[in-house]
Amino acid sequence: MDLSIVVPVYNEEESLEPLIRETNRALAPLGKSYEIIVVDDGSNDGTYPILTRLHKTETCLKVVCLKRNFGQTAAVAAGLAHAQGQVIVAMDGDGQNDPKDIPGLLAKLDEGFDLVSGWRFPRQDPLWSRRLPSSVANALISWMTQVKLHDYGCTLKAIRSDTAKDLKLYGEMHRFIPAIAYERGARVAEIKVHHRPRLRGKSKYGIARTFRVVLDLLTVKFLLSYATRPLHIFGLLGLLTGTVGLLVALFLTAQKFLYGLDIGGRPLLLLAVLLIVIGFQFVTMGLLGEMLARTYHESQDKPIYAVKEILEARRAV
Ligand code: UDP
Ligand code: MG
Repeated sequence: MDLSIVVPVYNEEESLEPLIRETNRALAPLGKSYEIIVVDDGSNDGTYPILTRLHKTETCLKVVCLKRNFGQTAAVAAGLAHAQGQVIVAMDGDGQNDPKDIPGLLAKLDEGFDLVSGWRFPRQDPLWSRRLPSSVANALISWMTQVKLHDYGCTLKAIRSDTAKDLKLYGEMHRFIPAIAYERGARVAEIKVHHRPRLRGKSKYGIARTFRVVLDLLTVKFLLSYATRPLHIFGLLGLLTGTVGLLVALFLTAQKFLYGLDIGGRPLLLLAVLLIVIGFQFVTMGLLGEMLARTYHESQDKPIYAVKEILEARRAV
């Protein structure tokens, strides 16, 4: 199978049928074998009955039905896990992404990339509640992860199967897929794609998402940079605070014994004790982190690297 289209849907009864028709029309000229995997993320409207009806007529349609609403990230992860194509394209189920962009994504992928992400341009969403927070988030994520993209929020992207199967997604991390893939060694590119206003159904998100994105960014940044060496960050913080605390304590000790000053009531004494204790705690936390990192990798035989290719020796000398 050449291509798997993964579509997470939650209460999108009106959008599904037109979307599948449109996708078929966009993919037909490519002459590739493909499947459309619709992941029903515990919808409670007519989505499921419509999917069972479409499943009878659309031969390329595969339906993965989740037991309850697990959220978009989980739905995408379920779709990736069940995809059989060599290339996987993720796409929103509300019709805001345009399936006609898929050939463009695939062409870019063929230039030698492992992941091509869409950049919704121009973006058809409200300014204050969506485009503004989103542009701040994009700048922040690009800066912190070093993967510079204009649009992290775009679901429409094409990923090579080996890269996609390697992703472990939690929380609301589907938006960090390019950064996570990059950390695993994928070559990432971005191209402009069409974006359409939502014509049917309602958006599943509000402004509250912004805060969750920032929190998830912390997790991603930590995991990408320090997951295999937690002591480097916690130990550094611990050494810094501990050293400052120790210096302050020495200063106070000198004042007491050399000059006979009374240090019992000095706020500085509290600060010194606080810094030393925090310093110890940071270092201990880092050591615990090191143990967790080992448990994580060794318990599931998960290497700390990703191999691209091996050219075996053709002859033992
Ligand atoms: N979605 C999902 N599970 C959820 C929320 C959303 O599968 O819990 C799907 C939704 O049906 C849509 C896609 O994720 O296909 C993007 O959602 P939405 O269009 O509401 O997000 P927006 O475009 O407003 O950012
Ligand atoms: Mg949408």
